[in-house]
This record gives sequence, structure tokens and C-alpha cells, in this order.
Amino acid sequence: MAGKNLRFYVALYMSKLARTALRVLKRNASYFPGKLAIKICPDFLGRINKPETIITVTGTNGKTTVCNMILDALEANGYDVLNNKAGSNINAGVASSLVAESTMSGKCRKKIAIFEIDERSSKLIYPYIKPTYAVCTNLFRDSIHRNANPEFIFNIINSSLPESSHMILNADDLISCNLGAANDKTYFAIDRLATDKEESVNLINDVRICPKCHKPLHYNYVRYHHIGNAKCEFCGYESPKADYLGKLDMDNQILNVVTPFGTEEYHMVSNSIFNTYNQLTAITVLRKLGLSYEAVKKSFADLNIVESRYSKETVNGIDVVTHMSKGQNPIACSCVFDYVKDEPGNKEIILILDDVFDRQGSSENMTWIFDCDFEFLNQPDITNIIISGVRCNDYKLRLLMAGVPEEKLMTTSDEVNSPELLKLDGTDAVYILHELYAANTAMKARDKAVAVIKERGAKNE
Ligand SMILES: [Zn+2]
Repeated sequence: MAGKNLRFYVALYMSKLARTALRVLKRNASYFPGKLAIKICPDFLGRINKPETIITVTGTNGKTTVCNMILDALEANGYDVLNNKAGSNINAGVASSLVAESTMSGKCRKKIAIFEIDERSSKLIYPYIKPTYAVCTNLFRDSIHRNANPEFIFNIINSSLPESSHMILNADDLISCNLGAANDKTYFAIDRLATDKEESVNLINDVRICPKCHKPLHYNYVRYHHIGNAKCEFCGYESPKADYLGKLDMDNQILNVVTPFGTEEYHMVSNSIFNTYNQLTAITVLRKLGLSYEAVKKSFADLNIVESRYSKETVNGIDVVTHMSKGQNPIACSCVFDYVKDEPGNKEIILILDDVFDRQGSSENMTWIFDCDFEFLNQPDITNIIISGVRCNDYKLRLLMAGVPEEKLMTTSDEVNSPELLKLDGTDAVYILHELYAANTAMKARDKAVAVIKERGAKNE
């Protein structure tokens, strides 16, 4: 590893100075100090001392939740953990957090670190930071203009990962489970669920052919998209065997985990399968780090993840629900549509899916809507779909292609006042599905929907 030269010390001191100045001014010091250090000394991350044990967490979904769970559990058990929770998950954020815990001579004050790593930044981080445990939660299609496709992201991570890192991977994810062919690994998975299917019902399944022999791949079961369990009938390639296998007892909110040490029983922190994957990932990491079953069990005992991306209130007997539905992300949107279609009763839907770029009038492409399962919204009990925002005609076209009758579709560029188009004729619930950056707009639309329901005296007997 590169030693400390004059350039390194200049970078360290300037960075610490910037950090102090920003903190005096009560400004965020989690990005700029690291950016400055790397600007002055491009291999700064390689030269600064690091903790002995490093955990990195990357992946398309869940990395922040997994990092927080691991961090909280470690701290509850007396560990003093260096982390980039407060700041950015790219190289500058990692550098800032290391500078914050470095002495003037460049020595690190902490023995263990956990870093959330942006997938695309891994090539700027892994050459310098060699994680003891490298976690990948999953790899999915994400925003095309940021992440291209999952194979692209897979290759970025795979080509930069140090061979010395022990990988912790999702055996149910037929993409990310193939990371680090030469690395030692521990796999986690969730056992077959009653809701699993024989065939994919999603438009997008990014693993239809065998990663090894490229012939059609047979799934034993599909959970969603390429999440499931597969075996190739031609070459024998199969989903890896899980070292930590979760078995869900939904009725009793219990996550049983079959581990190398026996079966362990944990309180499920959430009803959502996504957060159960996150919890299982954290359990696997914590047990690998040597925390006892009792300690890990205790750290989850009182934890209940409240869906911050979800709200529900009932007005005159009609449920008004808001649910985040990440725009530009066909997988996240499809999962939300899938959830709404299975909810009981007659539903009216308000879509607020335009993202920041759409709002700025950009001509960014809309290909993601053709990867997204708008077909799930073509249901007899979905009686009205109000499409709002500047892109409303694009979504309308997509819904028509999904077979939704035109008389069920209404468009408006006015997102906040879109609830005025509610029919409220035998409606049991109104779902406002909104893009991440439209949360405030969605809350205003929710208030409007509540007002409209009260004003019209609509009541569901
Ligand atoms: Zn094969």
C-alpha cells in the first residue's frame, strides 16, 4: 500500500481545515472535505490509514437500510464504528468519514468501519479500500440514464472487487450471486414462499438464459423479476445453496434462519419482503462478524420498520393511501403496482410519476415505462386512473398499451389538484402513487383528495 508523502499530508490538513470550517459554519461536512482531499491527492483513499475490519454494502436496493441495521446492532453491542451514514456514498463521502476519524499523523481512531457504497463508485473505492466483508444486496434495473443496465453495474463491481474480500451475497438474485467468482462467499436466501410463482409475471426478467451455457434457464420458482431459484437443465448451473436460509412465519411475524450454527428465531421487523431481505442480510453479516445469536436477536427485538414511503388515512369510509413509486425505476414501480392490484375493494389511482428531469422540461428518454408492469393496473376493480404531470400523455399511451380502457384514463398537468378528477362512485380506496422527488406534491394532492371526499360528502356504506 502507498505510504504517506507530502502531498498526502497537505491533502489531510486541508481536508481537516475544510471540515472544521464547515462545522463552525454549521454546514454539511460529509462530502466536500473528502472531495478536496482526493483533488489534492488522487490516491488519498489508498494512503490514509483504515480500520482493521471494514464492511462495505452495495447493491441496487436496501443498502442504506442494511447499513443502518448493522451499525445500530454493532453500536448496541459496544462497538465504536466509523461510517458514512451522515454523508455521501461515493468516494468523497468515504474519504470525508475517514478524515473525520483520522489523527493529524493519518492514524485511524477506530477499529471497525461500515461503508455504504454507490454501485458506480465501487471502481473508485475498491482499489483503495479492501473490505473484510463485501456485501451486495441485489442488482436490478434502475434509472437507465444513471445505471445503464444491471450487467453494466455487475461488471463495474466485479472488475474492481479485491479478491481478498469475503463476499456476502443474495443466493436468490441470479445476477449479483455471481459476483466475485474467485472470492470466499457466504450466501443468504429466503425459502420458497406461498406467493412464489412458476413463471415470471413481470415484463422484465433480466436472467432468462443460463449465465454459464446460455441456454434457456428453468426456474424452480420465481418471486419477482429475476429473484427466485433456478437450475439449468443443460449444464447443471443452479442457484447457490444458502448458508443462511430465512423461513418466514408471516402469521407470527417470525423470521426463522437456518444457519451453520442451527436454526435461529428472529422478530420480523417488517411485513415487506424487501425489508425482510434487508434484515436477513444484516443478520448474516452480524453473525459472520462474530456477534452471538442472543446479541443479534436482541438488536432486532424492538425494531419495527415504519414505511416512511407510505401513508394511509380513512375519510368517510374511503381509504386515502400514498405510496412512493420511484420514477425511472421500472422494478420499484412494478412492485408497487403489483401491491396495489392485490388490495381489496374498488380503487381509484392517481399517478404522480414525473421526476426532477421531467419537471425541468428535459427530453430524457421514457424507455423505463415500457419496462414497467403498467399491465398490473388493468384490473376490473381499478375503476379510474388519474394521470398527472407534464408527462401525462406518455403514461396514458403506456396504459392504453397495457389494455386499460380509455374511459378509465384521465389526464391533467396539475398534480396537486388532480384529485378533483376523482369519480368517488363506489370507491373504497384512493391510491396516490408518487415519484421519490414528488413526495411534497403527493402530500398536497392527498390533502386535496381528503378535501374533495369531504366536500362531495362521498361515503362508502
Ligand atoms: Zn446452463
